[in-house]
Amino acid sequence: MHKNILIVGGGHAASQLCGSLLEGGYTGALTLISEEACLPYHRPPLSKAYLSEDKVGPPLLRPASAYGHAQILLNTRVTAIDRTQREVTLSTGERLPYDALVLATGTRARKLPDLPDTLDNVHYLRTHADAERLRDAFTKASSLTVLGGGFIGLEIAATGAKLGKRVEVFENAQRLLARAVSPEISETVAENLVQAGVALNLDCGPVTFDVADQRVTALNTVKQQHPVELLVVGIGAVPEVSLAQAIGLTCENGIRVDSHMRTEDPAIFAIGDCAHFPYAAWNRPMRLESVQNANDQARTLAAVLLDQDPQPYAALPWFWSDQGSLRLQIAGLMPAQGERLIRPGPKPGNFSILHFDQDRLVCVESINAPLDHIAARKLLLKDSHPEKAVLVDPAIHLKTHL
Ligand SMILES: Cc1cc2nc3c(=O)[nH]c(=O)nc-3n(C[C@H](O)[C@H](O)[C@H](O)COP(=O)(O)OP(=O)(O)OC[C@H]3O[C@@H](n4cnc5c(N)ncnc54)[C@H](O)[C@@H]3O)c2cc1C
Repeated sequence: MHKNILIVGGGHAASQLCGSLLEGGYTGALTLISEEACLPYHRPPLSKAYLSEDKVGPPLLRPASAYGHAQILLNTRVTAIDRTQREVTLSTGERLPYDALVLATGTRARKLPDLPDTLDNVHYLRTHADAERLRDAFTKASSLTVLGGGFIGLEIAATGAKLGKRVEVFENAQRLLARAVSPEISETVAENLVQAGVALNLDCGPVTFDVADQRVTALNTVKQQHPVELLVVGIGAVPEVSLAQAIGLTCENGIRVDSHMRTEDPAIFAIGDCAHFPYAAWNRPMRLESVQNANDQARTLAAVLLDQDPQPYAALPWFWSDQGSLRLQIAGLMPAQGERLIRPGPKPGNFSILHFDQDRLVCVESINAPLDHIAARKLLLKDSHPEKAVLVDPAIHLKTHL
């Protein structure tokens, strides 16, 4: 049984791990170390409601009292790990011992190498501090340029349009959310944004920037020079693996762990966005960026650390994104190839896309069809496979098949 657990990170995974350890009866030393200034908070609202509200402070995942006897060190970065001594070094210079070390370091925003992020009107969005800075800029700007047609960039674009800004999106791919959703969903999201007044530039090719007086003044494509007042760059995230890499742990698109979240070092574990894990149902390793994955991996690891009949990580992936008036929900993992069928929803414009691998239902994407999403999660977990024709019949509720 572990007696001294150190958690590096102050996000969803770290918070859930604290919660699960305490619920599981852990009484040993427990320390959460976060470089951020506040207790772990809900990150998803930062690109959604938070930007258009005047709330003070981020929505916390748990009140301070829920961390029980855990010691929480904020504004503190772990700068190094000594595997031999089993100690970490903090940005304060202090060294802390551990017998189990958990890396829950998440991701950081992918940066444009040629564009300094210190420019006054350039924004990335990952943390509450980033959101505060962007929200402040929103109050002054009348137009917004978004580079990147992924989930976060488009959520910000939709929020900007709702706030009455002129919004223009530049995306290199031929459709929005190209790596994450089916073409029908991309199309629906695009139509919705255009209806909200957002101008879309797909297949925009490489971009360059004009910079003057500490500001980006224009974004240039081969076709046009677009004046920039406020620029949000949403071109994805990279796993934060620097600590693990420095001590020689294998990192390839994340910190490599086994199905119990263990790295090659028996005293070091990794969970959440930073972990590259084997997913048994797919028979291949992967890394996911979602709240569900961070929480469920934390629960798996808590059982391992508490030695409470730990099971290999096999949770069903699910995800959501709010794109203006559209709620997009995904259950399961989309197959690289396979058949997809549309299940119409209760109202025009609402629908789900059912993905099949051979005859097995493996993934369901839903637009404004939350009941389909909930039923799909249960159906996928149950691993039962009703006839395709029955599944896509909108007259028969998906939950009928449970
Ligand atoms: C704007 C935004 C919107 C999102 N929307 C959705 C959504 O709608 N649905 C969804 O499912 N997911 C969404 N996500 C993704 C989701 O937030 C992440 O998957 C989730 O936060 C992962 O949790 P985590 O604990 O693994 O990492 P994080 O939440 O990123 O936490 C990592 C923490 O570790 C800290 N840290 C890193 N290195 C160190 C160090 N050396 N020392 C101390 N602290 C360190 C970081 O500062 C951070 O606090 C969104 C993410 C963002 C940024």
